[in-house]
Amino acid sequence: MPSQLISPAVVVRVQNYGEADLIVALLTADRGRLDVLARSARSSRKRFAGVLRPFCQLQVLVDLKRHGSLATLTGAELERDLLGTDVEYGALCLASYLCELAAHVSQPEHADPQLLRWLTACVPWCAGRTVAEDLPPLKLASEAALLRVLGLLPDLLICGRCSGDVQPVGHWDPDGHGLLCPHCSPTQREATPYLVLAQLQASVMALDRASALLIPATGRSLVEDRMQRLLRQAVPQAGRAERALRSHMLGLD
Ligand SMILES: [Zn+2]
Repeated sequence: MPSQLISPAVVVRVQNYGEADLIVALLTADRGRLDVLARSARSSRKRFAGVLRPFCQLQVLVDLKRHGSLATLTGAELERDLLGTDVEYGALCLASYLCELAAHVSQPEHADPQLLRWLTACVPWCAGRTVAEDLPPLKLASEAALLRVLGLLPDLLICGRCSGDVQPVGHWDPDGHGLLCPHCSPTQREATPYLVLAQLQASVMALDRASALLIPATGRSLVEDRMQRLLRQAVPQAGRAERALRSHMLGLD
């Protein structure tokens, strides 16, 4: 069977295998996550031209005939480096976390173009100049956008009981994961300002860095906590990149 051309395929994880090989997890639109064996990728750097790195969007040739359980990579060409060089450490942690999330929630042979779209939109947010204050809103907006792809994001602007606006603050429903307007909320605690919710919603829809950076810092912590809790439904345990990002961000406080 001839090798199959797949594009785009984003590298989300790279693991050493044996003496000279790599196992590369690719996120693709039509095949979901595709784990491929890249023979001699470590012994010969030339073989895949150094493009088997996280954050690289590739065009790949894959021999889907299984050797054991893995497809074999026969060619790879760089389409786009989603992150580029000269990246701040915190931004690198965030980009790694996004790839880790993508690797975790993606499934083999399960087409998911929305997930690929999310990853290729959000990883470039981490490129270039990123100051410490940018990390929390970028993290929050990318997490909320992923929850939307996964169908886990509640409506952030509409009361879950009366369908009215959650102005001027939304109260997190103690009995569910959505928001209630001040009129319907049994307690007046756990409130997030409408401005925060509206800008978060706007950034999720636009999948746009500038829009994410407009999420106000005041009143953001509760919604950060809620998005984390919702994400734990899809990713029950924090991975290595998430822990690195968290400890970096704690150090910045
Ligand atoms: Zn209501």
